Amino acid sequence: MKTLFLSKTKNHKMFDNIKVAFEDKSDKDLNRAYLLFKTISNPVISRILTAFVKIALWLHLPINGIIKATVYKHFCGGTTINNSQNTIDKLWRSHIGTILDFSAEGKNSETDFNRAMKETIASINKAKTEENIPFSVFKPTGLTHFSLLKKISANQTLTKEEEIEREKFERRIENICKTSSENRVPLFIDAEESWIQNAIDEIAIVMMKKFNTQETWIFNTLQLYRNDRIAHLRMLLKMAKEQNFFIGLKLVRGAYHEQEIERAKKKRYPCPVHIIKEDTDNDYDKALTLCIENINTISVCAGTHNENSSALLIELLEQHKISKNDKRVYFSQLLGMSDNISYNAAKEGFNVVKYVPYGPVKDVLPYLIRRAEENTSIAGQIGRELTNIINEKKRRRKN
Ligand SMILES: Cc1cc2nc3c(=O)[nH]c(=O)nc-3n(C[C@H](O)[C@H](O)[C@H](O)COP(=O)(O)OP(=O)(O)OC[C@H]3O[C@@H](n4cnc5c(N)ncnc54)[C@H](O)[C@@H]3O)c2cc1C
Repeated sequence: MKTLFLSKTKNHKMFDNIKVAFEDKSDKDLNRAYLLFKTISNPVISRILTAFVKIALWLHLPINGIIKATVYKHFCGGTTINNSQNTIDKLWRSHIGTILDFSAEGKNSETDFNRAMKETIASINKAKTEENIPFSVFKPTGLTHFSLLKKISANQTLTKEEEIEREKFERRIENICKTSSENRVPLFIDAEESWIQNAIDEIAIVMMKKFNTQETWIFNTLQLYRNDRIAHLRMLLKMAKEQNFFIGLKLVRGAYHEQEIERAKKKRYPCPVHIIKEDTDNDYDKALTLCIENINTISVCAGTHNENSSALLIELLEQHKISKNDKRVYFSQLLGMSDNISYNAAKEGFNVVKYVPYGPVKDVLPYLIRRAEENTSIAGQIGRELTNIINEKKRRRKN
């Protein structure tokens, strides 16, 4: 235990190098980031601003320009795949890969679902020729109605129309997964609210069994704030070993904590998520450990801004003598967040990839608003971002 603690400290220190963390940021970039995080760290201002943006959107006020120059510029790559090229190139100069994440949310028509599928396929086609884009990703609710996933997850009987919708949804997913495996581009399936997640897990397992027979192309996402995910991981492992397929997993803590608790309370069912942060942290680290212990079956991506978990992953790689650039292990953060982890880990030779959201400004707004809301509610994370930015500003002033 003592050794683990000592070497965790050593690995933690790696993330303290803020010069490396901000090496590709100009003073202007840094000042913009400072203003942004300073603003959203204040819950009152953040809430007023997000309410204003929602109202302005509803009233069709021309706010695109201001959003594009501020929060969008910090957290997004561009409005299209091509417009994101500068971000992709810039990250790659620091040996950080990109995951192009089409982030148009809240869409609900057949046309939107097909467009999201085509965008994902376009991102796979781009990735197949470029080593700086090691993964693709999609969000299942971009491909069908939320209400349908909810009904499937609750095992409710579907109407005839819903059965047809379900088939279309499954066809879209299969189409994306097939393109991914044929073009040798690994693919993440994002996780969402627990009341639609059964439907997503079900199809993700079918896709893994179908396409992960020789190598790992399909990755599902595990949210470790859920109190049943370690058992789910053990079940998956058993299934994969018995049925001879590989598992791909992106491990995250989970983005819908407050909604999960509220819904469980309102509908009076047992809360599906941990309510103590430490329990989530323990399960996250347990899942990382299980994945690395079973590296011959599982490929893993640690989607986290948490320094303890990132340091633990480095420790686990050392313990198990797995090389830093083993393609079965990736670190991942969102664009504009935790650059101290991404840039320092990449500099040390670990595999690092950033989610780079893209899409038209107004379509990406729900993602940006969630970012602001999440960040305001996670005081620790925002504190870390701001402290790092302030320290780098001080360091530059001294030099
Ligand atoms: C590359 C990447 C991909 C992602 N993909 C997804 C995805 O597909 N689906 C998804 O849901 N999220 C996704 N996320 C977001 C992720 O789930 C987290 O919300 C976010 O990363 C913050 O968690 P953290 O591990 O970075 O660290 P931390 O800042 O240490 O943890 C914050 C998290 O801890 C949990 N938490 C907070 N308070 C409590 C409490 N009282 N009790 C128990 N748990 C608590 C919550 O999950 C919260 O988000 C992704 C994140 C990244 C970086």
